[in-house]
Amino acid sequence: MQSRGIRLADPDSGAPSRRGGAGPSDHKAVTVDGRTVMIPIYSDAAARSPFLAEAPDADGSSALLRDGNAVARVAFPRPPRFYAMQTFDGVPYWKIAQLHAADVLATTVLQTCVRYGNRATACQFCAIGDSLAAGRTVNRKTPEQLAEVARAAVLLDGVKHMVMTTGTPNFTDRGAAILCESAFAVKAAVDLPIQAQCEPPDDPAWFERLRAAGVDSLGMHLEAVSPEVRARIMPGKANIGVDEYFAAFERAVAVFGRGQVSTYIIAGLGDTVEAILETCERLVNIGVYPFVVPFVPIGGTPLAAHPAPDAAFMRSILEPLGRQLVRAGMRSADIKAGCGKCGACSSLAAYE
Ligand code: SF4
Repeated sequence: MQSRGIRLADPDSGAPSRRGGAGPSDHKAVTVDGRTVMIPIYSDAAARSPFLAEAPDADGSSALLRDGNAVARVAFPRPPRFYAMQTFDGVPYWKIAQLHAADVLATTVLQTCVRYGNRATACQFCAIGDSLAAGRTVNRKTPEQLAEVARAAVLLDGVKHMVMTTGTPNFTDRGAAILCESAFAVKAAVDLPIQAQCEPPDDPAWFERLRAAGVDSLGMHLEAVSPEVRARIMPGKANIGVDEYFAAFERAVAVFGRGQVSTYIIAGLGDTVEAILETCERLVNIGVYPFVVPFVPIGGTPLAAHPAPDAAFMRSILEPLGRQLVRAGMRSADIKAGCGKCGACSSLAAYE
């Protein structure tokens, strides 16, 4: 389902989902067999998917059909209560942070990126500016706003951890500074584990500062692993080479601990199975959790027509990767906060 997407008989099923933006855009949270996963629904491929979710029953669950045959029942998490609220300065909470999967609060602290405005440097899979242009979010979420929303999301909706990502504001701290002030404000308001996500900062002292500000785990995302794929898909960000990422990973693991530093790897952008697994092995050896997810094309981006990887390709990576993780004693459940812990954008945790 994550590779093919699903069609919805009732487009209003579950919580409203968002087009564009960072993270699992054009997806919807779907609960299957008690596990909530993010499934593409707006991509062109999803419109041709063999999977169709029928309109929800009175109890909120739907029959899932594959080529017309019932294969499962699925449910859609309801809109969280905090979506109905607004800040003291009049901004709807849903424009400041979103509910991801079942119990994760996710925000893009800064919705602009130094790399995004120019196609020569922008990552081709990214739609960070689209949701801003469409008025579905605000550019800079202030620490006060984030604290207010996080507190409500914990109290009203029981969120368990928070993901703070950011567009890259500069070529020095690369977002670490605004993540520090944001995490500090949230932690002062509510006891909520936080994962921060940014590019490797120029000065490793930022890892200590992030930790001191209340960040529990850190994501620095390779996205693709082979130099030629990175240069093609993310021409600006590829200037920070894989070796520079590895140097940053080692420094970050020393601060946050083994298994509390992770990286996103998007399968289906051109990296081979072997290249991804080799990089994952290197990552696991130094204590970094490689969160491998299937690429999902997002409408309006240069990769909108690029196919998602099929289920067999994903299995050929996730099965051996699951064995690597078991051997290393690393488990998503032990991550304090973040995408690896949530796991909804991949089926990796099922192979651990
Ligand atoms: S894995 Fe990360 S991006 Fe995906 S739903 Fe969970 S928190 Fe959001």
